[in-house]
Amino acid sequence: MAISPSLFTRVSALLAFVLLASRAAAQPPFTIGSISAAPGTVASGTLAVSPGAGATKDDGAMIPISIVHGIRPGPTLALTAGVHGQEYTPVLALQRLLRRIDPQSLAGTVILVHVANMPSYLARTIYYSPVDGKNLNRVFPGTADGTLSERIAATITREVIERATHVIDLHCGDGNESLRPYSYWITTGPPAVADAGKQMALAFGLDHIVVDRERPLDAAKSIYLSNTAITRGKPALTIESGGLGRTDEESIAAIERGIAGVMKHLGMRADGPAPVAQPLLLERSEVLRSANTGIFYPAVERGQTVAQGALIGRVTDFHGKTLEEIKAPFAGEILYVIGTPAISKGEPIAFVGAKE
Ligand SMILES: [Zn+2]
Repeated sequence: MAISPSLFTRVSALLAFVLLASRAAAQPPFTIGSISAAPGTVASGTLAVSPGAGATKDDGAMIPISIVHGIRPGPTLALTAGVHGQEYTPVLALQRLLRRIDPQSLAGTVILVHVANMPSYLARTIYYSPVDGKNLNRVFPGTADGTLSERIAATITREVIERATHVIDLHCGDGNESLRPYSYWITTGPPAVADAGKQMALAFGLDHIVVDRERPLDAAKSIYLSNTAITRGKPALTIESGGLGRTDEESIAAIERGIAGVMKHLGMRADGPAPVAQPLLLERSEVLRSANTGIFYPAVERGQTVAQGALIGRVTDFHGKTLEEIKAPFAGEILYVIGTPAISKGEPIAFVGAKE
């Protein structure tokens, strides 16, 4: 049968369309600020947080990031380390991952924030920024004209969280906290986002999962980094592995393994570890705080099981007089306990979790 001219034209048009469509399917470069990664490549650089003026006068900050941009389309997974300045295991885990995620076999994009809170990292401060005294993980989504911590938060919100489809905020016990590994599953937000967050927690592989039902729903007052993603409709997770300013192999490996598990779960890589088989969901948890300033003596270890009313530790004044004894409010497990003597009124003593 002869092909009519009109059919020939239609077939040609179809071929041209298929060709164009396949070209369009190739990934464009992924760009954050002046850092741009072509498909199948890795790009690194820094985000600048401009110096503050007037009442918030300061020198600004830099945020080192890397973009691993896969050859194929897929999710954009943001990984943030160093939100707290003396939490080193996530920082070192991301240094390893930067070398070990192959963009040539990756579907999607990984954004690595190597040190979110550079002022705190360089000054080796726990909890609070040495510049404005604020906890970076309590000022999200930040403000463009606020104090330095607030401007760092605004930069991360705009340049990282807004660009991601999924977020993992990586923590460990701070320089003063002795901690057993766990993750937070945040249940607030749309049910589909909360469920996707639970699947990420299972995929990360830490068997202790704190169920957190108390994060704010207001995107303008999200407070926490991971909750900034969730209030913007993006599944997110906070994990804790390591502590006391240490850089131990076990804690770093658990973070690396967890991220590999989430990447497999999201279809970004074919290989990776399986989800945790028997998760322990901790429906009840409480941060115990000191009512006094002085010297803290722990009576428990991280990971220890305690009965209701068991002594967690005591605080003395600077002349050795006991000011308070802190007791377990319910039977559970010590997820972290302060491991250094310095304590100020209102600060955490320990975090206790239980199944119910
Ligand atoms: Zn932290």
